Amino acid sequence: AAPLLSVRDLTVTFTTKDGPVRAVDSLSLEVHRGQTLGIVGESGSGKSVTSMAVMGLHTGAEVTGSITLDGRELVGLAERELNRLRGRKMAMIFQDPLSSLHPYYTVGEQIAEHHRVHFGSRRAAARQRAVEMLAEVGIPEPKRRAGEYPHQFSGGMRQRVMIAMALACEPELLIADEPTTALDVTVQAQILELIARIQQERSLAVVMITHDLGVIARVAHEVLVMYGGRVAEQAPVETVFAAPAHPYTQGLLDSLPRLDDAEDAPLRTIPGSPPSLLAPAPGCAFAPRCPRAASAGTEARERCERVRPSLVAPDGHAVACHLPLSPATAPMDHIWKAI
Ligand code: SF4
Ligand code: MG
Repeated sequence: AAPLLSVRDLTVTFTTKDGPVRAVDSLSLEVHRGQTLGIVGESGSGKSVTSMAVMGLHTGAEVTGSITLDGRELVGLAERELNRLRGRKMAMIFQDPLSSLHPYYTVGEQIAEHHRVHFGSRRAAARQRAVEMLAEVGIPEPKRRAGEYPHQFSGGMRQRVMIAMALACEPELLIADEPTTALDVTVQAQILELIARIQQERSLAVVMITHDLGVIARVAHEVLVMYGGRVAEQAPVETVFAAPAHPYTQGLLDSLPRLDDAEDAPLRTIPGSPPSLLAPAPGCAFAPRCPRAASAGTEARERCERVRPSLVAPDGHAVACHLPLSPATAPMDHIWKAI
């Protein structure tokens, strides 16, 4: 089947007073119905900008390339058309539900209004639908709670309300941008379970955006690792965890908390900071932080610093690195030949 969402050579450039900032550079991806694509990276890697571009919410940025949803080109589409698609065809949830919910209306009214705007349904029907949606996302006593205001809900319950609102118009694509980052670990697990369940029941295409590979492990089928606005690595989730080829992916994996960590163990992070998008270096964006380049010979290191690695995809495992780690199953020369 054709993918529901297909992005080709997406480039998003912001004009700032200091010059152009290329937040996303030549990105391509596909998401099929019933599949979850995880996009992982640090802040500033371009993952949120990518999702905003898909939603047509890239105010002020120059967008080139192609974004098709169910075969329809979204780049260059009129705002009115995009507005129709948002909600009906695609919906988004964010880290902070409070900022997207109106404080002075009950959650039932807000979900009902959303439904009414997109479906033109009558008030009573829309209100009934809101209660059904609250029940579907696991909010106890949905009828009573529909009459409550956002501040009367806990963080986790509020995120459930946002999911109910997103689903009220039966979108086919759901984009979730750090939906569980603000929640404690137990609630986070419950929300991820909910998203995974709804994704399966409704055969949704989901894009899950996160800085946390742990989240990816729980919900994603396919992973796209972004660094400096570009794809560093892309593969099925098992491949990324079993045989990460890119040093940045490896760094993200190494910084995951482990079961044998002491209670008060410090967080492991990748040393150094994300690259400047204002004046990108000519070579690999990860070079200043890359342990593999640092321990390579002078010639290899200079190549990393001077030549930008292109994305090479042997057998569906795409890597942009001059010195990719070979998975145990694939002999080293297999990847070398591909480069
Ligand atoms: Fe590291 Fe070089 Fe690979 Fe970049 S191309 S990730 S610097 S080894
Ligand atoms: Mg973000």
